Amino acid sequence: MSNTDFVLAIEDLTVSFDGFKAVDNLTMYIDKNELRVVIGPNGAGKTTVLDLICGKTKSTSGSIKFMNTELTKLSEHEIVRAGVGRKFQTPSIYENLSVYQNLEVSYPKGRGVWGSLFFKRSDAVVSQVKKIADEIMLTNFLDMEAALLSHGQKQWLEIGMLLMQDPELLMLDEPVAGMSAKERDQTADLLNKICKNRSVIVIEHDMEFVKKIAHKVTVLHQGKILAEGAMDKVQEDEKVIEVYLGH
Ligand code: ADP
Ligand code: MG
Repeated sequence: MSNTDFVLAIEDLTVSFDGFKAVDNLTMYIDKNELRVVIGPNGAGKTTVLDLICGKTKSTSGSIKFMNTELTKLSEHEIVRAGVGRKFQTPSIYENLSVYQNLEVSYPKGRGVWGSLFFKRSDAVVSQVKKIADEIMLTNFLDMEAALLSHGQKQWLEIGMLLMQDPELLMLDEPVAGMSAKERDQTADLLNKICKNRSVIVIEHDMEFVKKIAHKVTVLHQGKILAEGAMDKVQEDEKVIEVYLGH
């Protein structure tokens, strides 16, 4: 297949679990600095698409090109190094470390003096931690043990840990689940800032939140694209109302 200007080009992607196609011949393109939201009913295959992109699940057929690198042949580790960051539904932070330390240990290996939690703090690491802490609204919590953060702040910390690696593509699975209304608004602001320097794929059910962030929406149903485009157009789509929004 030809090279593209897209950050991510998914073509004819299929994964079959014992004959059941969770993702079925999916083709989808993500632009540079695009924030795409993927919606759809439970079991539609949304999480599986992220699993395929980050290499957690291996495709049965098809192609995933990330800035012209074929990801389907790479390991999860190589995909992270290529510049893809992925946040799972449950936060995976180090509860007993401070916010500062959580960010610090997420600084990519090889880019600084590294090795253990007690590595020499290069200026680059310190300035990156401060920059990211500011972005994720945790500057005043840097010395706090992560366990003591609110649920929403923990989600932001994990986003910050991914941002420490400065990924070209960031993927978030249901980031505002369990958040307060205020935290949802703040998360929308955060994501709108983050996508200025990278592409972002978000899976989310909260339509008020989706409206605040989506450049385009992809509606998945039974592993296939049911509709794709601007939020207001997708919302009016009869098929989308029938299988998803109407419920
Ligand atoms: P969504 O995130 O849209 O709710 P998922 O991607 O989690 O949906 O799941 C899509 C379908 O694929 C579901 O029917 C699920 O049970 C199935 N599935 C997902 N991962 C696996 C797996 N590793 N093995 C077998 N079936 C799976
Ligand atoms: Mg899911």
